[in-house]
Amino acid sequence: MAHTATSDDIRRVVETIEDMGYEARPMPGKQRTAVGLVGNDGRVDSSRLEALPGVLQVIHVTQPYKQVSREWRPEPTVIDLPNGTRIGAEDVVLMAGPCSVESEEQILAIAHRLRVAGATVLRGGAFKPRTSPYSFQGLGVKGLELLARAREETGLAIVTEALEPETVELVADYADIIQIGARNMQNYPLLKRAGRVGKPVLLKRGLAATIKELLLSAEYIVSEGNGQVILCERGVRSFDDHTRNMLDLTAIPVVHALSHLPIIADPSHGTGLRSKVIPMGRAAVAAGADGLMIEVHPDPDHALSDGAQSLWPDQFDELVAQIRLIAEAIGRQLASPLPERVPA
Ligand code: PEP
Ligand code: MN
Repeated sequence: MAHTATSDDIRRVVETIEDMGYEARPMPGKQRTAVGLVGNDGRVDSSRLEALPGVLQVIHVTQPYKQVSREWRPEPTVIDLPNGTRIGAEDVVLMAGPCSVESEEQILAIAHRLRVAGATVLRGGAFKPRTSPYSFQGLGVKGLELLARAREETGLAIVTEALEPETVELVADYADIIQIGARNMQNYPLLKRAGRVGKPVLLKRGLAATIKELLLSAEYIVSEGNGQVILCERGVRSFDDHTRNMLDLTAIPVVHALSHLPIIADPSHGTGLRSKVIPMGRAAVAAGADGLMIEVHPDPDHALSDGAQSLWPDQFDELVAQIRLIAEAIGRQLASPLPERVPA
């Protein structure tokens, strides 16, 4: 719509779209409102819309993914978490924690340590997608309860994985962000279920997924009505075996150009090697990542999963100090650390 369009003009456009048999999604922006037309089956007569007062331009989204594209919505999507963390704005957000929630002692100790270090989101898997059926599969609901306890004590927001469509609501009851893992990026029933739950979703790139496939998977979530999607580059399979995966940092500026959704990087899974996490974390922030997801464990040598790629807490401090400078160098800043909570 033109920036001079009135609310009546916008309403008339919405009514016209509905009259044509489609769904209308008004998106108020800083400069102007855009109205999305959902369900375009290729037979839309745009001249009817072009003629309406207040309409500036009818844009045909050329990409196969529609609602996640920049053409659809030029302004970045910003996701606000209950503890004040904003993902997709100027802040660079730090999500950190162990691969798996292992015990009360482990998760509470690391949560307190990470809050002091400057993280605002705590990660930790309760339901774990393990390559081997004989590996530790996570504490399940008990793990979710422990995460909720850690949030209560520290104020950190919680991100944790939902493995199956049936457990999305359960995970959403505890989590501030529902993680969909790399192995599930194209689990369409899971994506749809996550699209119907009113919580932000962190969608990790599949092990061999193209950026277009990642965006189409995000489209599944958004098209179900949940626009709060955060993408995550976590490395893809490559021919080289020096690292567990190849962290595709190019995906960050590419996604930012194609989509309004925020994208973070996970250099822990992206490299699989503790010694490579700090340099690649620095590089991801320099490339424009809206945040980092970092595995940190109080005792990585005894971690029940992904110990080899988990940082020691002191190494996380080092990473935070370095990316603070990098964020500032590119006109951003680290998300403000959470204040200490006084026990009631
Ligand atoms: C994880 O975050 O611990 C995890 C299993 O990640 P991914 O799905 O990227 O392998
Ligand atoms: Mn892991």
